[in-house]
Amino acid sequence: MTIAPCVLCAEPGGELIWRDQRARIVWIHDAQHPAYMRVIWNQHVKEMSDLSLPDRAYLMDLVFRLEQVLRATLQPAKVNLASLGNMVPHLHWHVIPRFTDDPHFPQSSFGEALRDSIHRIENPDAFKRALIEEFK
Ligand SMILES: [Zn+2]
Repeated sequence: MTIAPCVLCAEPGGELIWRDQRARIVWIHDAQHPAYMRVIWNQHVKEMSDLSLPDRAYLMDLVFRLEQVLRATLQPAKVNLASLGNMVPHLHWHVIPRFTDDPHFPQSSFGEALRDSIHRIENPDAFKRALIEEFK
């Protein structure tokens, strides 16, 4: 029996926006949530408590900086932060800007869609430039 390789060890996991030795930020281009991002720890660890205290702080600082860029550029109704990893047990944070007209609002974006509407990014190029500018 072969063990399936971890997808986040094998692949970036989205469009790579920024990366350093410890972590990376990727843009998922999710069909229902176009500005859905992830912050992924590069090394394969399962839980936040597997990290040293400085590494935990480093990872959360990236999550919060990303949240601030999303707030400044997209003015979402809410930003959802989630670390689940039940399907892919490789430490990563979902950073999901939420809009009142997105398919799931006000429910979790991981559940059943409530409507067909998609909240599109008005200017994806400017959005990407803002992300790259923050993390360069
Ligand atoms: Zn992995």
